[in-house]
Amino acid sequence: MSDIKTIDREYVANTYARFPVEIVSGYGSLVYDDTGKEYIDMGSGIGVTAFGIADDTWKAAVIEQLGKLQHMSNLYYTQPCALLAQLLCEKTGMKKVFFCNSGAEANECAIKAARKYAAETKGADHFTIVTLQNSFHGRTLTTLAATGQEHYHELFQPLTPGFVHAAAGDLEGTKALALQTKAAAVMIECIQGEGGVIALDPAYVKGLADFCREQDILLIVDEVQSGNGRSGALYSYMNYGVEPDIVSTAKGLGGGLPLGATLFGEKTQNVLGSGDHGSTFGGNPAVCAGALSVLRRIDGDFLAQVREKSAFVFSALQGAEGVESVSGMGLMIGIKTVKPAAEVVRSCMENGVLCLTAKDKVRLLPALNIPMETLKKAVEIIKAACV
Ligand SMILES: *Cc1c(COP(=O)(O)O)cnc(C)c1O
Repeated sequence: MSDIKTIDREYVANTYARFPVEIVSGYGSLVYDDTGKEYIDMGSGIGVTAFGIADDTWKAAVIEQLGKLQHMSNLYYTQPCALLAQLLCEKTGMKKVFFCNSGAEANECAIKAARKYAAETKGADHFTIVTLQNSFHGRTLTTLAATGQEHYHELFQPLTPGFVHAAAGDLEGTKALALQTKAAAVMIECIQGEGGVIALDPAYVKGLADFCREQDILLIVDEVQSGNGRSGALYSYMNYGVEPDIVSTAKGLGGGLPLGATLFGEKTQNVLGSGDHGSTFGGNPAVCAGALSVLRRIDGDFLAQVREKSAFVFSALQGAEGVESVSGMGLMIGIKTVKPAAEVVRSCMENGVLCLTAKDKVRLLPALNIPMETLKKAVEIIKAACV
């Protein structure tokens, strides 16, 4: 058989350092490679397949919608899009939703809306967006500029101007930078994902939210990775008791199909008007039907189970041999290992567990509905790989 790895290496752009494994199928939290080897999936496509692979409920919702209407222009009303926006607002208290196809696009929309809001309320010189050092907000030229990690910037200058980066946790420094730069918004991930699975300090987030409200600087929370139940709350900001003006999300929301959403609160709900923004595929009926089936199931009981599984992983790994520390929240977990993270991940893979890395950590983002037994098995293999 002509090897898929060879064809891929010849024809697909070299942007991914792929593991030497071809995944062909799966069910729930188990996936299979081309030789039939089974793996426990502790990455869920980087937090995308929130209910696992080929989840029956999600699949049925998507297939039913595909039989009716797979796409329609946003020039017309469609049911799944409207119902998903309604459910997102009911569950968060936000007021309006813009749909797109990815996390970067959800952030682009948030940034555009923040700039327009500030231009209209304070003047066109209030365009700067303050983000945090070590953040990650996407790969487009604008969201790269938002991303506070220099090594992503180097080869792609000039980036979109108007972004400055504050030190996470330094409340006075962040405030001063926002005032000096006449900031339109401060954008944060409550749990930095790509930056190493680091939860921000609650007092910092609360202080920042208070400052933003006082100064009428918008608070944007990037929930692309941490949202949709991942942190043990529906959105990670809910763990912090703050109310953002704009929330962006993607990854897990679509359950495996491309979907991004930007949620607007009281102040920002009418900032974007007709013609200000758009997306051909945004709010696609099949994708939204799947997302509805995901979001409907993320209720209080389900979130309690996420927190229970999280507590199990933290207690099993904290203090384990070869583990320096465990960070994160919910089922968004970083493990600082004594061995290099890449080595631990490789050993896990050999033993049938797929893990991710984030900076120098092993990162776990399992499906939120991973069965406890499967999770226990995976954690045993991870523990052994750390020694
Ligand atoms: C993954 C991620 C993004 C980018 O999402 P894409 O769908 O890859 O564009 C943005 N922000 C955060 C916090 C992410 O984890």
